Amino acid sequence: MLTQTASPTVAEPCSRLSPDAGQGGPSKLCLGGGLPSADVRLRANGGTRVILDHMPGEPQKTFYLETFGCQMNAHDSEKVVGTLLSEGYRQVQTVEEAELVLYNTCSIRDKAEQKVFNRLSDYKKFYKQGKRFGVLGCVAQQEGEKIFERAPYVSLVCGSASYRNLPQMLIQIEAGKQRVTGLDDRETDECFETEFTARTNPHRGYITIIEGCDKFCAYCVVPFTRGKERSRTSDSVLSEARQMADLGYTEIQLLGQNVNSYKDPAGKKSFAELLAAVGEIAGIRRVRFTTSHPRDFGRDIIDAIDAVPTLCDHVHLPVQSGSERVLDAMQRLYTRDEYLERISWMKAARREISITSDIIVGFPGETEVEFEETLSLLDDVEYDSIFGFKYSPRPNTPALKLDDAIPDEEKARRLAMLNEKQREIQRRRYQRYLGTTLEVMVENRNEARGQWSGRTSQNKVFNFTAPEDAKPNVGAYVTVMTTGTFPNSLLGELVV
Ligand code: SAM
Ligand code: SF4
Repeated sequence: MLTQTASPTVAEPCSRLSPDAGQGGPSKLCLGGGLPSADVRLRANGGTRVILDHMPGEPQKTFYLETFGCQMNAHDSEKVVGTLLSEGYRQVQTVEEAELVLYNTCSIRDKAEQKVFNRLSDYKKFYKQGKRFGVLGCVAQQEGEKIFERAPYVSLVCGSASYRNLPQMLIQIEAGKQRVTGLDDRETDECFETEFTARTNPHRGYITIIEGCDKFCAYCVVPFTRGKERSRTSDSVLSEARQMADLGYTEIQLLGQNVNSYKDPAGKKSFAELLAAVGEIAGIRRVRFTTSHPRDFGRDIIDAIDAVPTLCDHVHLPVQSGSERVLDAMQRLYTRDEYLERISWMKAARREISITSDIIVGFPGETEVEFEETLSLLDDVEYDSIFGFKYSPRPNTPALKLDDAIPDEEKARRLAMLNEKQREIQRRRYQRYLGTTLEVMVENRNEARGQWSGRTSQNKVFNFTAPEDAKPNVGAYVTVMTTGTFPNSLLGELVV
């Protein structure tokens, strides 16, 4: 049958990837935490571990998939890959080898969108060789059939709300149909649930619990590209989490544009109860969740973290701005004080919770004083990391109608100031770990540096050395002594 390797993925981050993979600045997102060619386990047959190897003589429909954007896109791609494998396709690592070339796209900022069109024009020569091209995800949904005009060699345009119809769309493409679309499902109540998910990391994996967004922040394209908010039942999420635990996964990350807006369609569990239930599954050692929206962030989430030790002591709570007026103009649905109240709950938790955030600078009309209010918020909260973005005008969004655009150079200046201030805060905060020991899940080995790399429960990157006779395995949980600190990472030695 099939052996699968990690699909090439380029990040123009959309939702926070880093420290996991970098939402802040553009960074390389590796499915599977950077494993170069991890085997893919197809989750099927009630959780049996299935590793598929290619058998000679089998049909050779091949595809190449490149992913841009956030964790949601990365995980959507794992499900798309699983769907294609289950339809008899084989994944290849280069466009040259593929019959079907797919891009799972991101349109959160203009730069991300442009990358996709650049890539498509790079590859148009391949159309003459009979290759077919498909654009999936946010750019597909946003641009719709206009993509066929801009790139006539594209055969498939499919938004994320239509992924569950991919098998039928593939049949149409195979039958030679020139233009196949999946664009009409944004009002659906259904999530993309598939029994085939081609996860590329055997130790930690994503589970989507909620899709779409109903918040309509003034700057954001997501409600237009991912459709209306819809949650999976808690039974279905828990059954997937148990299957993953049975397969040997120890870390689970619950995903959604706003995970804490989760509403169990069966009415059985709140988000905090679901979180706790996933954390209580035997074999699961770490549970993460992203992204949380401040408006829906209840104290019960902190109570769950206090009660269940496997829930990681890290909360990503995007604030976007420290100015009351700008928050209102952004239609964020909370005030600075309400946001800070949630921060005070986290600071009162039993374990120290690492807090990270997203911030947009240069929203239309943002004054120097309002920007300084954002800087002062950094002092008030003392984040462990932030992802700062220059405001990027997006199609369809209400903010497009606002006057007083901030010039790009001014946005760049504010972003540099924001990052510089935050760097100082991190330098100070990370120094507190010097001489302490922390539990690290080992993620990979950097041969050139002779170091291992992993993450703490707080999602801090930890690079460390280990004696020759005590080399840790990837996926293992080890104790590391902190011998050095940097603004974005810790340095240490394995405790044996
Ligand atoms: N749902 C999450 C929330 O409400 O915080 C965020 C999800 S959004 C896909 C990820 C981040 O991208 C946002 O937190 C925001 O900082 C950034 N972002 C979204 N639209 C943007 C825009 N038009 N310009 C710049 N950054 C943007
Ligand atoms: Fe975008 Fe706002 Fe929805 Fe987050 S809550 S995805 S920023 S519209």
